Amino acid sequence: MDRRKFLVGAGMGLIAAAAPISLSAAGNATRKVAKSGRLNLSFFPYELKLRHAFNLARYSRTTTPDVQVQLEYDGIIGYGEASMPPYLGESVESVTKFLSSLDLTQFNDPFKIEDILTYVDNVAPNNRAAKASVDIALHDLLGKIMGQPWYKIWGYNPEKTPVTSFTIGIDEEKVVRQKVEEARPYKLIKVKMGLDKDQETINIIREMMPDVPICVDVNQGWNSKEHALEMCHWLNERNCVFVEQPFDKTWIDETAWLRERSPLPIIADEAFQRLSDVVRFHGVYDGINIKLMKSTGLYEAHKMVTLARALDMKVMIGCMTETSCAVTAAANLSPVVDFADLDGNLLIANDRFDGMTVENGKITLHDRPGLGILPIPGK
Ligand code: MG
Repeated sequence: MDRRKFLVGAGMGLIAAAAPISLSAAGNATRKVAKSGRLNLSFFPYELKLRHAFNLARYSRTTTPDVQVQLEYDGIIGYGEASMPPYLGESVESVTKFLSSLDLTQFNDPFKIEDILTYVDNVAPNNRAAKASVDIALHDLLGKIMGQPWYKIWGYNPEKTPVTSFTIGIDEEKVVRQKVEEARPYKLIKVKMGLDKDQETINIIREMMPDVPICVDVNQGWNSKEHALEMCHWLNERNCVFVEQPFDKTWIDETAWLRERSPLPIIADEAFQRLSDVVRFHGVYDGINIKLMKSTGLYEAHKMVTLARALDMKVMIGCMTETSCAVTAAANLSPVVDFADLDGNLLIANDRFDGMTVENGKITLHDRPGLGILPIPGK
């Protein structure tokens, strides 16, 4: 890795000393920005420590690889990150290689979002989390330059944020009971399924919390149409609200079959990545789970929300295990989604940022400019 990429700001004073111009035409900006400013990218690996082992239908883990990103322009820093759960196929090595290949100093106007992110997208295929890290940092930077949080720039009402779900993984009964206790402040529970404990887990939660709505995430774990349909009816009778990714992401016909018969909406997660998938899955799934690490960031995620709503599909905004940086970025879109699953920051023990909070189960957005985050000193 190019260690020079870690150095931020060393030569930036010279850039900032250039003749300033006003950005008043760009919105509410009031500060002066150097005319000859350049975008400077830096990044470093940061392993996320999980508070509990994370057990899904297909694997278990205690850490998540992550790369923290900074994008500097005229002394203002935007923060971003790439989180790489194993199924995405990215790693610290692939992300740092991708980021090292970028030359963002060619851009002297950070408001040319389309140009900048098209360049980033075209550098190499895939690398979606790496691309998202740049996109998130760019949005944080631009919001700070404009002096406004992104939900305001998009015109969203922060009072309309949804409740967010708290995730309970596949585990032993004792651990499930402990997680349900932790979940008490939440108004929505998300349960991971796909192993032989599915009904047992739901029964424990229903015994401890009889009324809370439950979202079910199968993580591609079911392998029979008939079993899936039976489970959808069983879950519907127990106040569950939807079923996410019941089958392998390649099972398109089987998913459409289930969707036609299921009393519960079927939501795409692992099968669904980018904007073009919204149209591809219209009629196959009832809704989509947008995550910034899949969508390449906020710029495309915002378009996905708009398109899916126009197609009358349900929209969910989710996350990986991430710091409050990426989780808060996603939360800016939450006032216009049907469901939010933004607890990734709560699942880690070493968050680096103070960001959106969950109060009485509901997402609460700050009035801070950009993403709405502040670095935690010493982290
Ligand atoms: Mg999921």
